[in-house]
Amino acid sequence: ALPTLAVVGRPNVGKSTLVNRIIGRRLAVVEDTPGVTRDRVSYPAEWAGTDFMLMDTGGWEAKVQGLDLSVAQQAEVAIDMADAILFVVDATVGATASDEKVVRLLRKSGKPVVLAANKVDGPQGELEAASLWNLGLGEPYPVSALHGRGTGDLLDAAVAAL
Ligand code: GDP
Ligand code: MG
Repeated sequence: ALPTLAVVGRPNVGKSTLVNRIIGRRLAVVEDTPGVTRDRVSYPAEWAGTDFMLMDTGGWEAKVQGLDLSVAQQAEVAIDMADAILFVVDATVGATASDEKVVRLLRKSGKPVVLAANKVDGPQGELEAASLWNLGLGEPYPVSALHGRGTGDLLDAAVAAL
């Protein structure tokens, strides 16, 4: 079976946009309002000669359980199924308490994590991205899932982690 790279993060950080960017097709559902991605959907992907499954995540029961808990639960299941995790943070917002919760799960898993600092649409966002070094997950890769900026370097790191 192909290795699985799971894309994990809070609602609305751009996970599905990034998944579409990587697979080169608009298959993952992108929404301005959080809450639409089905629980877990995997797509075949390839980068630099490495074939892998790319797992989009994001379905949750926020209404029932509260957003933080459900994001953490989603992350936990995805982390379990994955060989490596692509953790997405919205660099324009910075790390939230909900992000920190997922970081703890990621650390506990011991699985390789690559950190994407998304929504860095231009050079002015690089500084905000660099502040995500504080999460303790290593180098934050500044990317714009929307425009494709920086995604090559991110993918190089991601496939190296598989
Ligand atoms: P998800 O909930 O994490 O899957 O996030 P989505 O992929 O559905 O995106 C949520 C919103 O953020 C949408 O309005 C996207 O167009 C927007 N978005 C995603 N990536 C970027 C980016 O790199 N830059 C900007 N400016 N907006 C983005
Ligand atoms: Mg989504």
